[in-house]
Amino acid sequence: MNLLVTGGAGFIGSHFVLRHIEQYPDDTIVVLDTMTYAADKTFLQPVLQRIRFIEGDIADIELVSRLVLTYGIEVIVNFAAETHVDRSIQNAVPFIHSNIIGVQGLIEVCRASPDLLLIQISTDEVYGDLASGEEPFSLNSALKPSSPYAASKASGDLLLMAAVRTYGIRVRMTRCTNNYGPHQDASKLLPVIIHNALQNKKIPIYGEGRQSRDWLYVTDHNDAVELVIQKGQDGHIYLIGAGNEHENIQVATTVLNVMGKSADLIQFVPDRPGHDWRYTLDSSSIRALGWEPKVTFEDGIRKTVDWYRHR
Ligand code: NAD
Repeated sequence: MNLLVTGGAGFIGSHFVLRHIEQYPDDTIVVLDTMTYAADKTFLQPVLQRIRFIEGDIADIELVSRLVLTYGIEVIVNFAAETHVDRSIQNAVPFIHSNIIGVQGLIEVCRASPDLLLIQISTDEVYGDLASGEEPFSLNSALKPSSPYAASKASGDLLLMAAVRTYGIRVRMTRCTNNYGPHQDASKLLPVIIHNALQNKKIPIYGEGRQSRDWLYVTDHNDAVELVIQKGQDGHIYLIGAGNEHENIQVATTVLNVMGKSADLIQFVPDRPGHDWRYTLDSSSIRALGWEPKVTFEDGIRKTVDWYRHR
């Protein structure tokens, strides 16, 4: 298979590239990435000789079309996005560009190549948040995004769903919960906890740390994405969650325990505006394809801490 992996120098995309090359060494992989603050080419160092790396934007329709034709691309896996909620609150414009205009660019490319399959990596954040004790989000839940980031991802999803109906392009979409693992940008929650703990610095936790997320180890996520490519159905959405719900304060204390550091490092700071309370997903759609998570929360935290410790 010939794949174009967009956003392949970021956190989840780089793990996907490493995993795919290992499982399918004869496949052609082209990585397209604008190299924002969240990207790091060194993540791809072990396979750089075996892939094509192009610095460029998914919104550049001419460039993406040329890559599709030149390399005979059969599948685009779109990890490319602006992803940091706090940054979207400061300035939503780059989010509109990558997560909406960029997605429309990919739609235009797919319209010109009707056999091309687009895998869109979306997020549980498009559903807004849940109250404590409420049933997990399902495929029937309404889109109710709370942040500019989530609204931009929901907009991209809606454009894709409309394009499937209007133009008959081939799209499979995934929505996953919070990923964790090596390669994540230093400004996200887990890397901040680990970096600060390593330097015995205070660890800022929003509000009282009671917000709850369903944590998904990045390699488990990519196992699911691979399954959607191999066995999924066009026009379907797959919800991916490991059922590992933990409050932010529990995440911080688990990391500190693993690192042998004191919980006194935790410092509560004023909450993020519009901060979602809780997310979790009904993952029966992906489990029906035979997926289940393999990495326990404690093991995942240990692997993550080890990676940041030895960076
Ligand atoms: P990331 O920010 O680490 O990586 C995104 C990558 O996309 C970066 O390398 C960046 O340079 C690139 N990029 C941004 N705009 C681009 C553009 N216009 N053209 C080409 N490349 C561009 O993000 P991530 O955590 O790896 O997330 C990947 C995908 O998974 C995103 O779509 C995100 O919405 C989704 N997702 C992430 C999580 C999570 O917990 N990290 C959870 C749910 C969904």
